[in-house]
Amino acid sequence: MFQNKTIIITGGASGIGAATVTLFSRAGANVYILDKKKPTDYSSLSIHYLECDVSNADQVKSAIYTILQKNPKIDYLFCNAGIHLFANIEDSSFEAIQKVFATNLLGTIYCLQQVLPSMKQQRFGSIVLMASDQAFIAKEQCAIYGASKAAIAQLAKSTALDYAQYGIRVNCVCPGTIDTPMYQAVLEQFQQKSGLSVSSIRDQVAEKLPLRRVGKPEEVAQVVSFLCSEAASFMTGALVNVDGGYTIQ
Ligand code: NAD
Repeated sequence: MFQNKTIIITGGASGIGAATVTLFSRAGANVYILDKKKPTDYSSLSIHYLECDVSNADQVKSAIYTILQKNPKIDYLFCNAGIHLFANIEDSSFEAIQKVFATNLLGTIYCLQQVLPSMKQQRFGSIVLMASDQAFIAKEQCAIYGASKAAIAQLAKSTALDYAQYGIRVNCVCPGTIDTPMYQAVLEQFQQKSGLSVSSIRDQVAEKLPLRRVGKPEEVAQVVSFLCSEAASFMTGALVNVDGGYTIQ
């Protein structure tokens, strides 16, 4: 499905990003992972890893320059790297706030800035940004994280509008609760604050979802693949829920 296609996936070493790397690689794509952390398995010849902190504009510029030197074109970009902050406003340190916005929002912007010129030149490209169900709704102890994700949803719509004329589509996935290392870490933090057991918190979370379970990283990867593909050729600026029905309630 993605033979002769090149995709950059940020945060591809873990969770949703790693599931998307696997899906695209199996579908024949040439995959570049940009991540601070080295992936445990990128043995496939079609998967390449570049160490990159997306919150550092120079590192993003240099990584994407390296990719463009080796590839005539970048077809797809999945801006997925992100961090969570489980705290209300008062408990969020200035340093932590800056780190969330630098990674989630600025990291996305830096990648867009480096990739859009070449997509514009080739008059083709499909970009998927990673927001969250918190682009639509609020969750307790998530003010800063939620604000960063709502901003990304807006960025997707604005970028879609500006670049449609160049044949570039920009869409946004908005996952609900997905079982990844990030979710595990949030569960542990919630356990420490609430005193509840991790398994009872897990059950409570699942109970609140219409589909009565949390999602799998592969289920988000499938939607990213659809949005990149020609099957979604008339979609741009869409905010796509992948949340087991959480935000319809
Ligand atoms: P994860 O922690 O498993 O993976 C995140 C990846 O991003 C890691 O490989 C990490 O090293 C990388 N990363 C973090 N900061 C980085 C930086 N500065 N530069 C480069 N790489 C960096 O988390 P996940 O759950 O797979 O989350 C992926 C994305 O999905 C995030 O943007 C997250 O906010 C979003 N999301 C997750 C959920 C969920 O429930 N898991 C829900 C909605 C949205």
